[in-house]
Amino acid sequence: MPRLDAKVALITGAASGIGRVAAELFAAEGARVVIADVVEADGSAAVDAITRAGGHAAFVRADVSKTEDAAAMVRFAVETFGGLHVLYNNAGILPPDDAGTLATPDDTWDRVMAVNLKGVWLGCKHGIPALLESGGGAIVNVSSLVALMGSAVPQIAYTASKGGVLAMTRELAVEYSRRGIRANTLCPGPIDTPLMAELMADPQWAARRLVHIPMGRPGQAAEIAKAALFLASDESSFMTGATLVVDGGITAAYVTPE
Ligand code: NAP
Repeated sequence: MPRLDAKVALITGAASGIGRVAAELFAAEGARVVIADVVEADGSAAVDAITRAGGHAAFVRADVSKTEDAAAMVRFAVETFGGLHVLYNNAGILPPDDAGTLATPDDTWDRVMAVNLKGVWLGCKHGIPALLESGGGAIVNVSSLVALMGSAVPQIAYTASKGGVLAMTRELAVEYSRRGIRANTLCPGPIDTPLMAELMADPQWAARRLVHIPMGRPGQAAEIAKAALFLASDESSFMTGATLVVDGGITAAYVTPE
């Protein structure tokens, strides 16, 4: 039986990158998928691809940092597909000028926090009532490896925002643990997506990153989407407040192999 049979899944930032691959995978596993993103053309293209493959999906334009958009995307999911069972807060940004502690401009800090941290909170704030109304469900919040380990190639606002996601998810997992909602955090390492490609374009930067990955390569979006599917489905039914690290071994390594 498909792992998300008859479930309604809302994925933010699903017009591209990991979210897009996850949307296709969730739909193939039987979910009716709401793609919420700021990029309308790519979001609609993702819906078309899912529909062509025989799945069910719909696009809603939503900026996760705005409370009215977060409320509207949840309302759209319920009105379009009749409920909400999976909330996958995936949207995130890493602007190039988010650099060291002294270098990051104040407005970059504010924007990163607004999307990466407040956006996840707003998704939960507006999504949890719909999950409860639908008889419970699963929240997958996206953090990052950098919530667990410091980097000498700093991205200070991004790191702080992802640390916030991790701490917040543990707390809301406990808060809702007896009300049928599980909430877990996914911590990807470097993954080959448009977000990462921009940074990897600098060969020196890329070399500094890759040397720390025991598996010697960045991950693929599908490898994160499969982990998200596990957290979203009943296969992880006794997991809540947990941190799933998918990083090619980075957090396990002291010295990487030659
Ligand atoms: P991506 O390829 O940039 O895709 C993210 C999508 O979210 C884009 O369509 C983006 O639109 C959209 N988005 C940006 N701001 C938004 C907002 N305010 N509201 C709604 N949608 C918004 O990113 P990704 O690499 O797949 O990353 C997905 C998640 O994994 C992020 O939370 C990221 O921090 C996390 N992550 C990624 C990596 C990695 O190596 N790629 C590693 C660890 C964690 P725009 O294109 O207009 O920005």
